[in-house]
Amino acid sequence: DLSVPKQFDFFYFVQQWPGSYCDSRRGCCYPKTGKPAEDFSIHGLWPNNADGSYPSNCDPSNPFDESKVSNLESDLQEHWPTLACPSGDGLKFWRHEWEKHGTCAESVFNERGYFEAALSLKRKANLLNALESGGIRPADGKFHKMGQMKEAITKAVGYEPYIECNVDSSGHHQLYQVYQCVDASASNFIECPIFPHGRSCGNEVEFPSFSSASIRDEL
Ligand code: 5GP
Ligand code: 5GP
Ligand code: 5GP
Repeated sequence: DLSVPKQFDFFYFVQQWPGSYCDSRRGCCYPKTGKPAEDFSIHGLWPNNADGSYPSNCDPSNPFDESKVSNLESDLQEHWPTLACPSGDGLKFWRHEWEKHGTCAESVFNERGYFEAALSLKRKANLLNALESGGIRPADGKFHKMGQMKEAITKAVGYEPYIECNVDSSGHHQLYQVYQCVDASASNFIECPIFPHGRSCGNEVEFPSFSSASIRDEL
């Protein structure tokens, strides 16, 4: 509908590294479905403006409806697991992402389409493979140059990502989230119109393993 003003310019597709979420001071809780694989997982697909601003919670009349993703749930559990505490089944995380971000792009997809678009982008990006091609594999106590991490992803995907870091419990900077820009139809990666401003990484960055990550005691 041409009378509806465009609400955003592009998307950030954001993936998290579970090893870095879990070994931070806050720790994590594995989902009820079990410990996720050692792979990046989806955080969200976020409409954004070229000036850095972004819309959120755009349509309270279209809340998350589990029945619309019923036969996607095993894919979502695998590729979009929740790691927050207490352990969950993922529904709360998916609800949050759809309602906060997905409802701001209703001209592009419905709820089911939102989750399908993100799953498809994750397959296309294959970040773990991209890093591996640059010789960067999950390992504790090994540090990488920020430039080399970016270059490995840029080579494989075609566009420079934004890498966000957090710190592990001993204060080391580590790769936490990767932001990629996606066109307004949610199908193709593009050059980022603007990078997020956020947590800087420093030059020496760890890519911690997830297999050795410890889990916060819930009881
Ligand atoms: P944080 O403050 O943890 O970086 O971000 C909190 C939440 O705000 C994110 O999970 C996301 O929902 C939203 N957010 C933060 N930065 C951006 C941004 O640059 N663009 C969009 N669309 N959302 C953001
Ligand atoms: P955002 O930062 O996208 O606005 O919010 C993420 C929300 O989802 C937070 O309330 C956070 O507690 C919840 N959440 C549940 N599971 C996860 C997870 O695995 N990763 C992140 N980043 N947030 C999660
Ligand atoms: P929210 O308060 O919106 O749940 O989350 C705020 C911030 O804290 C987000 O960046 C979210 O990813 C992070 N967060 C929330 N719960 C947990 C948790 O259990 N473990 C870790 N490591 N981070 C969390």
